[in-house]
Amino acid sequence: MQKHSYPKFKNVLKKATNIVITTHWSPDGDAMGSSLALYNYLVQLGKKVKVVVPNAYPEFLDWLPGNKQVIIHQKNEAKVEKLINAADLIFTLDFNSLKRIEKLGDLLQIAKAPIVMVDHHQMPEAYATYYFHDVKACSTCELIFDLIVGLGGKKLIDKKIAACLYTGIMTDTGSFRYPSVTANTHLVVSELLKTGMIPSDIHSAIYDTYSYERLKLLGYLLSEKMAVIINMPVAYFSVTEDELKRFNYQKGDTEGIVNYPFSIKGIKVCALFMESPDGYIKISFRSKGKIDVNKFAREHFSGGGHVNAAGGKSDLSLEETVNKFTALAKTLF
Ligand code: 5GP
Ligand code: MN
Repeated sequence: MQKHSYPKFKNVLKKATNIVITTHWSPDGDAMGSSLALYNYLVQLGKKVKVVVPNAYPEFLDWLPGNKQVIIHQKNEAKVEKLINAADLIFTLDFNSLKRIEKLGDLLQIAKAPIVMVDHHQMPEAYATYYFHDVKACSTCELIFDLIVGLGGKKLIDKKIAACLYTGIMTDTGSFRYPSVTANTHLVVSELLKTGMIPSDIHSAIYDTYSYERLKLLGYLLSEKMAVIINMPVAYFSVTEDELKRFNYQKGDTEGIVNYPFSIKGIKVCALFMESPDGYIKISFRSKGKIDVNKFAREHFSGGGHVNAAGGKSDLSLEETVNKFTALAKTLF
């Protein structure tokens, strides 16, 4: 998918008044950071803007500037339907398949307003009118920075927008560790720091907010639940709903845990399977180098994402899902 031209898109944006921004199911730091950065920018342009998310997001993202006006579709279906009908432009950020927003996708499918996709995941679907898609970008926040600059809005990037963008870049790159980090990533961050935004404050706001139970859950999973497939560089966790309840699970509490086995020498693939309150098994896959977990998740677990980080779902039991994974794991190599 070709990137749309910024000057042409500037004219499209000029004509729009009511704008809806939406992002993927179970929004993460990049989803909320990119949505709220764009929100704060568009408000400065005098637009009427609302951010609509399919379902709730973790508390550690509540402080993001603009958070208060975010509407959760799952809790306000009628209101969201009205907003979508009244919109004259709709942005979809950090995803590229309408399946990723569940029932909200049905509304977008019949929406009259043109859709703008800003995303960095593999294999975009052709549902939009305007595309700012680049799998080489480390995060959707990096693409939003480029978009704002491309539209001539660099001077409008203030501390608030910078904090949102930094959040997404930091979380999607594992704090600047992943191979997705490029020279451009650091140039963008350098511009963000010039606004006076304080990166250590953002790091603390996101990562130093564990509850006692969340850290205990991490310890329990590492000591009791981590498994390695015999003779394969593959480690995984399986987590039941009962275990989550025991540690007073809150949304986001398992985020990042999937990556821990990479610190074992030689591990190339990590996975986490978890019974989700939504009634299916939620899966996270991570890999090193050329091992393509996006393809694997698409082919076997109704999912997708990036080459080295993908997610999926399963309607089998937790045990059956893990058995399916261990049986298929050799196809990853
Ligand atoms: P996570 O494991 O952190 O939930 O997700 C890893 C990456 O895969 C993220 O970029 C996320 O957007 C994507 N992803 C997670 N779950 C799904 C899914 O069910 N379908 C698709 N297409 N992508 C997913
Ligand atoms: Mn992202």
